[in-house]
Amino acid sequence: MGSVPNLLGMCGVAGIYAPGHDAARLAFFALYALQHRGQESAGIAAADGGTLRSHKEMGLLGAIFDEENLRELNGYISVGHTRYSTTGSSIVVNAQPLLEQSVLGDFAFAHNGNLTNTDELRETLSPGVTLQATSDSEVMAKVIVEGSGSMMDRITSLLERARGAYSIALCTKDELYAFRDPWGVRPLCLGTYGQGGYVVASESCALATIGANYVRELKPGEIIRVSKDGLESVMVRPGEKTALCMFEYIYFARPDSNFSGESVYMARYRMGRELAREYPVEADVVMAVPDSAIPGAIGYAAEAQLPYVEGLIKNRYIGRTFISPEQDMRSRGVHLKFNPVVENLNQQRVVVVDDSIVRGTTTPRIVQLLREAGASEVHVRISSPPIMHPCYLGVDMATYDELIAANHTVEEIRQRIGADSLGYLSLDGLVASTGRKRDEMCLGCLTGTYPNVPAWHASRAAPV
Ligand code: AMP
Repeated sequence: MGSVPNLLGMCGVAGIYAPGHDAARLAFFALYALQHRGQESAGIAAADGGTLRSHKEMGLLGAIFDEENLRELNGYISVGHTRYSTTGSSIVVNAQPLLEQSVLGDFAFAHNGNLTNTDELRETLSPGVTLQATSDSEVMAKVIVEGSGSMMDRITSLLERARGAYSIALCTKDELYAFRDPWGVRPLCLGTYGQGGYVVASESCALATIGANYVRELKPGEIIRVSKDGLESVMVRPGEKTALCMFEYIYFARPDSNFSGESVYMARYRMGRELAREYPVEADVVMAVPDSAIPGAIGYAAEAQLPYVEGLIKNRYIGRTFISPEQDMRSRGVHLKFNPVVENLNQQRVVVVDDSIVRGTTTPRIVQLLREAGASEVHVRISSPPIMHPCYLGVDMATYDELIAANHTVEEIRQRIGADSLGYLSLDGLVASTGRKRDEMCLGCLTGTYPNVPAWHASRAAPV
């Protein structure tokens, strides 16, 4: 993705409409549950029916917000955002929610996803429009500012024109809106809160955290508006083919989230079981690369009838390895992140399950750590197929040059990571594990076939 500027990538969004409640505080705790979706910056905007206020900074939520700045965000409506670190643009002006002024009044805008026709949309803006940030999100917000008619009309017109991935929470001084691109690439769910209150969030774990009741996913192309008149729903481009990102199931979502009632934990567990059926091996123990591969490793161990052990302890107080965009920091990050549990590894034939290999930075370090801890054999099992193609729809997945599986065979990768054997889950096994239909998912990073990606992206989609 290094050559593609202005990416916002994966993020967490939340929106609250809860009369009689402190909506900024609820947004804080909802975002707290979505911190895994982005650790670069975070922000909350809140409205009390009259004024819209916001606070945002670089860093983790717990460091940004305190009693004092939360108290200033008074009101019963809020939207919040946690931003994911991607290449470039790591500056506070890109933190969200974005605050915009329009003839309809101020609004706050929080986006998860990635547009694929940002330039086309930017060209439709009046020449006088100045963009403060460098993100596709700001272009979308400006399209709303420059639109005509009601807020609903403006958002409808945006959905008719914007391509790519976008799950968005937006609030004005007295209304909450949430909408999802017509392909439903990024998740966004709806819940109720207390008497007449509503919550939207990227993942259902955020609803569970604040005590909201999960109702359903927003449909692809759905716009909802919550106001004193209740909830209204409008569908835009309902005929588009659904394409929920498979990587949400593989890696990104929290395992305690559900998508349309399908548990992410159970999907990962089934991926592990299937992996054991596809790539069995004589071994003594099964372990995970914590945390995202734990359900998969437990599934593998259950199917293989081998003990599941903790082979690595993760330092939970440092961020994900991808937090630093620089390659040398990524490899150092692995050293800082894990220590082996020698007692579980010494003289053992170890199956180590991870959810994915992207650039191939993490896995060789893990294999080496396990060997240093005394493992007599290290068999690497990956609960996704090889990642062969970049993502244009929001996951920081690297370029063709960086993706190890785009440039090497499985046997070459095995040699590079120093494993005794290597097995990747099949595409069919992966799809079956999610309980979803194959043609309802975006499998772009695995197959190179992307939904809704216009020609200029498609031309980049072939390896050079
Ligand atoms: P790599 O070291 O580049 O091969 O990355 C693979 C490791 O990073 C695996 O342990 C994954 O769990 C994790 N991972 C995969 N995708 C991402 C992502 N988009 N952001 C952060 N970590 C990731």
